[in-house]
Amino acid sequence: MHVVLPDGKKLEFDHAANGLEVAAAIGPRLAQDAVAIKVQGELKDLLSPLEDGADVSIVTKKNIEEIPGFFRHTLAHVMAQAVREFYGARGHEANTIKMGVGPAIENGFYYDFDLPEPLRAEDLPEIEKIMNDIITRDLKLSRKEVTRAEALQEFGYDPYKVELINDLPEDEVLTFYVQEGFTDLCRGPHVPRTGVIPRHFKLMSTSGAYWRGSEKNPMMQRVYGVAFGTKQELDNYLHMLEEAKRRDHRKIGKDLELFFTSEVIGPGLPLWLPNGATIRRELERFIVDLELRQGYQHVYTPQMAKTELYKISGHWDHYQEDMFPVMKIDQEELVLRPMNCPHHIQIYKHTQRSYRDLPIKIAELGTMYRFEQSGELTGLSRVRSMTLNDAHIFVRPDQIQAEFKKVVELVRDVYEILGFKEYKWRLSLRDPEDTEKYFQDDEMWNSAEAQLRQALDDMGLEYYESPGDAAFYGPKLDVQVKSALGKDETISTVQLDFLLPQKFELEYVNEESGRSRPVMIHRGIISTMERMTAFLIENCAGDFPFWLAPEQVRVVPIADRHLEYAQQVEAELRKHDLRAKVDDGGERMNAKIRNAELRKVPFVLIVGDQEAEKQELSVRERHKGERKNVPLAELVQELAGRYRNRTL
Ligand code: ATP
Ligand code: ZN
Ligand code: ZN
Repeated sequence: MHVVLPDGKKLEFDHAANGLEVAAAIGPRLAQDAVAIKVQGELKDLLSPLEDGADVSIVTKKNIEEIPGFFRHTLAHVMAQAVREFYGARGHEANTIKMGVGPAIENGFYYDFDLPEPLRAEDLPEIEKIMNDIITRDLKLSRKEVTRAEALQEFGYDPYKVELINDLPEDEVLTFYVQEGFTDLCRGPHVPRTGVIPRHFKLMSTSGAYWRGSEKNPMMQRVYGVAFGTKQELDNYLHMLEEAKRRDHRKIGKDLELFFTSEVIGPGLPLWLPNGATIRRELERFIVDLELRQGYQHVYTPQMAKTELYKISGHWDHYQEDMFPVMKIDQEELVLRPMNCPHHIQIYKHTQRSYRDLPIKIAELGTMYRFEQSGELTGLSRVRSMTLNDAHIFVRPDQIQAEFKKVVELVRDVYEILGFKEYKWRLSLRDPEDTEKYFQDDEMWNSAEAQLRQALDDMGLEYYESPGDAAFYGPKLDVQVKSALGKDETISTVQLDFLLPQKFELEYVNEESGRSRPVMIHRGIISTMERMTAFLIENCAGDFPFWLAPEQVRVVPIADRHLEYAQQVEAELRKHDLRAKVDDGGERMNAKIRNAELRKVPFVLIVGDQEAEKQELSVRERHKGERKNVPLAELVQELAGRYRNRTL
């Protein structure tokens, strides 16, 4: 057989050579540095046989970060070997260490074990040390094809491996990867020797994991590690994890007493505590006021309806999985609403509409219920009861573009206030293959998608397309905002809908006194109050912008004799609706300041003799520093202005 090198040269072999042999045939230096091989552009390990005539090129150590899957997988083997040596040193036979699977995963690797005694978190550094030693030993790996009988012979002592072997299809070629002191049943790919593994890994945790993920099976112990090609990447990743922990809205929500869930109320049904409720109320007032100024009409509608409504709308056929089951009462069937659209449609239909009335913008902070899988529920970001900043704009076909544009502008204005700088517009289209999720009407879809694209192009908006993310009734423009941890989250959405107006037979009286059908735009600007609050908490790590802070100002009297002036300051601030509180507890001043910091209160005002006498304040602004001798009246004006203008 032969292979073809990048310069066109052919290398002949009298047997099916592997990548390592190819590297060796080119030169000993390359054989030493080689870590993988590209075969027709695809990365393969050096230990598997090559096909005749393959175009190949060798990947060397200096490009190791191109093959994270290879060294992560090899690290899983190295860890398993280290675990064996760890137990061996404590007098356990090798065959008492039983092993499930040990794959490479995103950012790292794991291995599932059944051990003679459980591994403790304190043992992980020791295991890491042995792993580093195995890397230093620079053990060569080789690949070996074996028969089923040979495989069963090797792993007879391990019921998990035996089960895996027996479950492989009859005609499957079984392979072992072997290094000195350790053999595993494995498909690869691996690096050719342990010495090339970058030492930028860390064992993170051990946890319980059911064998093959089923509760009916025994519980194994999963040891999980992260691994990267460079120290920088590892450091970044660990830092990101720390940040994620520090910013986790569930943790902050608890520390700052924002919200909680109660066992007897149920999962995904959060309760907003006074502090969280304050943030929510501020958000609600903010968006409602803005919408009223733009001609939206706010309404209230019930959170349930007859099943019939959803049969007409199509939710019954296309959205039932996400709905709570039917309630039967007095011969009637009712459901909790998963969306507000059909209710707003009823409001539209309540009276006759003329072309002169359009656009009609019906808005509501609409509470709705979705049956999210219990495994997906997370704090406030994915819940089962939620309140959406919802609106439905009913337009004439000639008004689509203009109204669409206004919504896009509204999104921009709102993000400006919220301080969202990095976001992308995503055009979510249907997946034509998915006949289950999407309503079937090619003509309608094509026309809706074309009109939306046209509107976006006319606005000069930069966007990317995402098939399969449309709503069942139409395409949408989603706004993906980058979170503090670099993840994209959908916050706003604007959707174009020709379907529901047709299903509900919506009409308006046109210029010729005939009947025409309006088009609907569904839009949510600040998402659900739940998801927005979760997002904001993580974004600012609990340091809310002044206008949103549950407690904006804490007044700290130095001694009891300053209490009266402190209360006067508090009253003055409250006159301007500022959320101020005197700390009149028995603690010392420094402890009080510390408490206010823990609560992340943006302003702490310290009052003593001089302040009381001159009607001044000593002002500590969080993350900004201290100002002394600030006249009370001046500070009140400043803070009231900041609050009113929602200055960040
Ligand atoms: P997702 O893909 O996140 O489930 P969706 O596409 O079903 O959302 P829409 O029907 O467009 O969402 O709902 C409007 C908005 O409500 C979404 O943009 C999202 O921000 C928010 N939202 C949806 N489901 C939840 C939930 N379970 N908890 C909190 N907010 C939610
Ligand atoms: Zn393997
Ligand atoms: Zn809607």
